[in-house]
Amino acid sequence: MGVITDERLSSKEQKALAEFLELVRKENPHEPEFVQAVTEVAKYVYPYELRNPEYREARVLYRLTVPDRLVMFRVVWRDDAGRIRVNRGYRVQMTNLLGPYKGGLRFHPTVTLSVVKFLAFEQIFKNSLTTLPLGAGKGGADFDPKGKSEAEIKRFCQAFMLELHRHIGRYMDVPAGDIGVGPREIGYMYGMYIKLRGYEPGAITGKSPDIGGSLLRVEATGYGLLYFVEEMLKRIGESLEGKIVAISGAGNVALHAAEKAIEMGAKVVTLSDSTGCLYVPAGISKEQLEIIKSIKSVRGRSLKEAEGKLAGARFYGGKKPWGVRCDIALPCATQNELDLDDAKQLVANGCRLVAEGANMPCTEDAVEYFLRHDVLVGPGKAANAGGVAVSGLEMIQNASRWMWSRDEVDRRLREIMKRIHETCVRFGTDESGKVNYVKGANIGGYERVARAMIQTDTI
Ligand code: GLU
Repeated sequence: MGVITDERLSSKEQKALAEFLELVRKENPHEPEFVQAVTEVAKYVYPYELRNPEYREARVLYRLTVPDRLVMFRVVWRDDAGRIRVNRGYRVQMTNLLGPYKGGLRFHPTVTLSVVKFLAFEQIFKNSLTTLPLGAGKGGADFDPKGKSEAEIKRFCQAFMLELHRHIGRYMDVPAGDIGVGPREIGYMYGMYIKLRGYEPGAITGKSPDIGGSLLRVEATGYGLLYFVEEMLKRIGESLEGKIVAISGAGNVALHAAEKAIEMGAKVVTLSDSTGCLYVPAGISKEQLEIIKSIKSVRGRSLKEAEGKLAGARFYGGKKPWGVRCDIALPCATQNELDLDDAKQLVANGCRLVAEGANMPCTEDAVEYFLRHDVLVGPGKAANAGGVAVSGLEMIQNASRWMWSRDEVDRRLREIMKRIHETCVRFGTDESGKVNYVKGANIGGYERVARAMIQTDTI
C-alpha cells in the first residue's frame, strides 16, 4: 500500500506514521475497507496530531479507530415462499462526543463488518464538518433488496428493528438511510420502532415528510454535492455553466446530483448502474432525467431501458463512465468504484475536478494520481455531507415539533456546504495558495472532535 506522499514530513514523522498504520492493520485484520479509510485520514491527520502535543498525548486519532461499541446481530425473517432467512445486522457506534451516534443503514450483499466500520469512521469527520451536534455511527445488513417483494422488504425491516430498537433513540443513536434504504424502508423500520417504544420521530431520520421527515432530505446529498462543487469552482473563478459532467450511479445521490447539475447549467453526459453506463453526449435534459427517474424508481430495473426511450442515448453494458471526455467527474455509486486506471483515463480526457457523492468511491492511488496531476478532489466526507446535514436539520425540526419549508431547508443546506468548503480551504491551503481538499476535510473534521475529546476527557 502506498502510504506516505507528503514530502514535507520529516523522516521521524514518516516512521511514526508507518508504525501507526502498521498497528491499525494488525489490530483490524481482514478489514481492508476500514484500514483504507483510516490510512487516507491518517496520512494527513497523524502528522498534524504529532505536531500538537495535547492531541498527541491524548492519542486522539488512535482512540477514534476503536469504536465506542459494536453491535452485531441475527436478523431472522420469512420469505414469500415461507422459508426462514437469516441475515447479519450491524450497528457501529463510533463516537458520541459531538452528539448522538449518527449515520445511515446500508442494506446490500457487500455489507461486512469492515464496510460498516469504514463508513462509521468516515462519518466521524463528515459529521464534525457539518458543525451540527452529530456523533458518528453506521449500520446495515448483508440483505439484498434486489428481487425481493414489497412484503419481504417490509418483513425484513421489521425484523431488523426488532433488535436495533434497543440501541437507538434521539439522544442515543439516530440511524437513517444509505444504499438500499430509502424513505420506504425507514417508514417500515420507524413503524416497528413506534410499536415497541412509542412515538419518537427523533429516533430515526430520512423519514417521509408525512411522518415527520424533513423536506429536501431525499435531494440533500445530491444537491449538497453540487453546492460544494459550485464553491470549489467559484474559488478558481469558474462556474458549472457549460461544464461537461460525468456521473456514476443511478440511485438517490446520482439522480439528484444530475438534477441540480442540469439546473446549474452543466451538461450531464453519463449515469450508471450495476448493469452498465448510459452515455448521452449532448447532455441529459430535464425531461430525460424524469424518464430515467421513473425507470429507476422500480427496484431492479436497468438503465438499459432508458436507451430506447432517450434520443441520442447509448448504453454500454458492464462499463463504467470514466472513459468519456468530461470536465468534472462525480462518482456517486459506491466505494472503490474509481481506480487508478480510471483516474488516468479521466486526467487524459481533460477532467479537472472530482467530487465524491458516494463514500470513498475513489481508491487511494486514484486520489493520489488526481492530486499529483492538479485535479481538485472534493472528498466524500466534505462533498457528500449534505445528506447527513439535512438529517441533522430533521432532528432539529423533530425536537421543536415544527416543519420548515423547502426553501428554508435549502437555504440552510447551502449555508452548511459553504461552511464545510471554508473549513477545507482553511485547513487545506498550502504556501503557494493551492487547496488540497482531502487534507483540509480530514484535518478540519478532526480538529472539532479532538477539541471535544480534550475538553471532556475522563481519563
Ligand atoms: N448515509 C448518509 C451518509 O453517508 C446519510 C447518513 C444520515 O443521514 O445519517 O452520510
